Amino acid sequence: MSDYKFFDQVNKAFDKAAKYTRFDKGLLEQMKFCNDVLHITFPLERDNGSIEVIHGWRVEHSHHKLPTKGGIRYSMTVNEDETMALAALMTYKCAVVDVPFGGAKGGIKIDPSKYSEAELERITRRYTFQLYKKNFIGPGSDVPAPDYGTSAREMGWVLDTYRQISSDINAEGCVTGKPIGQGGIRGRTEATGRGVFFGVQEACSNKEDMKAIGLDPGIEGKTFVVQGLGNVGFHAAKYLIEGGAKMVGVAEMDGSIYSDNGIDLAKLMEYKNETGGVVGFEGTKTLENNAAVLEAECDILVPAALENQLKESNAPNIKAKIIAEAANGPTTSEAHEIMKERGALIIPDNFLNAGGVTVSYFEWLKNIQHVRFGRMEKRFEENSFRRILSVIETISERKFTDQELQFLAHGAGEEELVDSGLQDTMVNSYNEINEIRKKHDVDLRTAAFISAINKVGGLYERMGIFP
Ligand code: GLU
Repeated sequence: MSDYKFFDQVNKAFDKAAKYTRFDKGLLEQMKFCNDVLHITFPLERDNGSIEVIHGWRVEHSHHKLPTKGGIRYSMTVNEDETMALAALMTYKCAVVDVPFGGAKGGIKIDPSKYSEAELERITRRYTFQLYKKNFIGPGSDVPAPDYGTSAREMGWVLDTYRQISSDINAEGCVTGKPIGQGGIRGRTEATGRGVFFGVQEACSNKEDMKAIGLDPGIEGKTFVVQGLGNVGFHAAKYLIEGGAKMVGVAEMDGSIYSDNGIDLAKLMEYKNETGGVVGFEGTKTLENNAAVLEAECDILVPAALENQLKESNAPNIKAKIIAEAANGPTTSEAHEIMKERGALIIPDNFLNAGGVTVSYFEWLKNIQHVRFGRMEKRFEENSFRRILSVIETISERKFTDQELQFLAHGAGEEELVDSGLQDTMVNSYNEINEIRKKHDVDLRTAAFISAINKVGGLYERMGIFP
């Protein structure tokens, strides 16, 4: 859709929420605009010797807190408007979940599937070098992470390049979502999908809210459709299924599939790896196009691909009672109104997919602290538990079995601490925005924006504006 402007869409949602805050117009404008926008081009020598010009962006939306933070996307959809919108969403998302970063985003306009691994490495390293030259990367200034079309592999290249040109003692903190062996953190790969699960679970646990949309409380037994089985969609689906929900539909690049009986995720992933798509998977019905399943009968719809997927044209046909925005910007403002009018509960992106950046925050903390979470206290905790258990043994005159001891005296390691920090963040933030929603009688997206604007604006008020 040519007249679709993603940054305008984000600002529309911001304006709607700003009315419920106390800040003056000038300060609100300051919060909305992007502080720095960088567009770079550089040549890539392809494996066959030809030269191609590559376009890349990095946008730092807000410096109210440093470093700025946000992923790097490799996709043909990348442009300046998209990068600005995504950077702005990062600012609001970090504020909603109390992650102390400003928002940023980067992107390179390529289809990664059309390049060899060596070419992708050259592109990533050159892009990082350009960011460094322009002061758009560093553990205290701007910290990229994976996004659509990138993963830990690319983040490893970013770190390695940064290390070659900087002698910063905190260099490992210049990027997050890295491989574990290069300073990454356990649980980062799963984090966004895991956060989606925690967010949906919390929403579904509210009896009153579920009653209002005609659903029973709890995840158990709910049906869902997921759009996109990339890192976010796959993990969100996996945890929803583990929580007792049934996946009845999947939309992927090659088409969409549906089955009332539920779709086996592990088998489907095997099938997708073999065939490159989901169409034709046994026991499912193929729908006429790759977006058709969005309109299928289900309780929860999880758009986990790109922006601008639920729009005016398909929103009237969407039946899901809960829209769980795992992607950034999947719903246009027009579609939002249509679905809200119908009574759907829309759990917005600027809260629901914040699990990724939350665990990125933990990774960055680990990097600048130069110590793994749990290293100091794990053994101490275990010994304390054992002391308590031995007192219980004396009192009860019963010895614990080795199995019981192992279970009860277990001290938390990095993975468990990350998971607990993530769950706590998602649960608290959900309840915070849900309260704002009720107080102002608005929807959750507006409530999340109100929360973000109050936090960012409050900080500006306390800091004052630099003359
Ligand atoms: N790309 C992810 C997002 O959109 C993660 C960003 C980060 O970890 O910095 O939230």
